[in-house]
Amino acid sequence: MIYIMRSERVLKRPPVLRIRPFQPVIPTSRKQQDVWTECHSLSCMARYSRIMRAAGRYIAKHPRYTSVVMRPSLSKHYNLLRGHSIMRLEDILKKIETSRDDMISDMMAMIRIPAIGPLNGGKGEGLRADKVTEFLKGYDSIERVDVKDIHEPTVLRPNILAKKKGKGKGTVWIISHLDTVLPGDLDEWKTPPYEPVVKDGRIYGLGTEDNGQAVISSIYASKFFDRGTLTRKSIGLAIVADEETTSTMGIEHLINAGLFGPDDVFIVPDWGVPGGTMVAVAEKHLIWLKFAIEGKQTHGSTPQKGLNAYRVSAKLLVDVMDRLEKKYPDNDQLFRPQVSTFEPTKSIATVGNINTIPGYHEFCLDIRLLPSYDPDDLVAFAKEVGAEWEKRTGAKITVSVEQRTRSGKPSDISGPEFLALRDSISSVVGKEPETVGVGGGTCANFFRLAGYNAYVWQTGGGSLHQPNEYCELSNLISDAKVFATLFHKLCV
Ligand SMILES: [Zn+2]
Repeated sequence: MIYIMRSERVLKRPPVLRIRPFQPVIPTSRKQQDVWTECHSLSCMARYSRIMRAAGRYIAKHPRYTSVVMRPSLSKHYNLLRGHSIMRLEDILKKIETSRDDMISDMMAMIRIPAIGPLNGGKGEGLRADKVTEFLKGYDSIERVDVKDIHEPTVLRPNILAKKKGKGKGTVWIISHLDTVLPGDLDEWKTPPYEPVVKDGRIYGLGTEDNGQAVISSIYASKFFDRGTLTRKSIGLAIVADEETTSTMGIEHLINAGLFGPDDVFIVPDWGVPGGTMVAVAEKHLIWLKFAIEGKQTHGSTPQKGLNAYRVSAKLLVDVMDRLEKKYPDNDQLFRPQVSTFEPTKSIATVGNINTIPGYHEFCLDIRLLPSYDPDDLVAFAKEVGAEWEKRTGAKITVSVEQRTRSGKPSDISGPEFLALRDSISSVVGKEPETVGVGGGTCANFFRLAGYNAYVWQTGGGSLHQPNEYCELSNLISDAKVFATLFHKLCV
């Protein structure tokens, strides 16, 4: 029989492994040849490893023992052994499940406060950030980094960093964003975008899926870990501004300010598929181009006296899309979709009445280019096409770059952090996730560009940037459970 007691005296006793008195934990069989351990989380494994090594040394000296068997259910006994109480993962998951109503009311309180960047005509995320800070209780530190808006200096863009400190190096960060896109055509909304409604297991409202789901799920995932109980990495929430436009005053600012380090782990829940079965580990380059066409306005009956900018614009648009698709045809299996995409998106209104030929028009392309291509090369090509059409039509054509974001190196998928994430997802959603590359535009790319690994995961509902955006309550809860599991694996 082997006993493990709470101190170093441990293995001096004769042969039954026990954790704290009279709690037999290790059935031993003389027939078993292996030292076998099974633990439901990495954290248990790490904590048990010292005991296991000691037990291993012990049984090495005592030939009648051939195995040590340690069961997952022992974590709570191990906590006794450490002399302080650490909540079991099961208890935390249960608490998350029973917090459904609180999660709904926090989400609704947040959604009622608009959070649109000045570039999209809004007043920023300040008021929403204040509200979200009210939800953060029991953290060791809550830091707020407000950054002056470049376009509208009277607006401060708020970033919240909340931490529960661990004794080890590094922090497991969940990065979510406060801002939303514009609601678009209000007539398309069945319920008003800022008046959230709970219906059929969903919360409807602007920003519920993108990115309210991540804000709320990460808060509830970290809420039930008691302060002072984290023996390894810290838990960190970064709830940031300016994701939907530039990220300059959001995550990029925080990275440049040196607030993150090489031992940190970055999870960005800002993209996902239904069922949560995909983790994005790479992104495409993102390029936003604006084509401005200047012709000459004239009366609808006398087109020969002017130059219809709208007509030139339409022809140019079709031509440029065709030629971009031909010039950049690569297919990469990692990505969804596998090809580069060239989509016309924003365009301006032309003239107020049907009998005026417009003298000016502009349209924008949203381009997601596979990382194998050079975005600068594409911009030069688009400008060439513009110059060709300028020559051909006599209109003045300007091609400008509204945004250009290079994609960083795909994130590592063999290290312990990724495996912990993968296992956390599998244990909650019941299926091992696939790794993929996506069209891009999340905070994760800024981490990749800075040389870190970042993983994009959440359970997607597919309604983001659309009227009647909603968040599935079941996704909100299961995302929180996945993040809690991950915290438990890497921080406890
Ligand atoms: Zn988003």
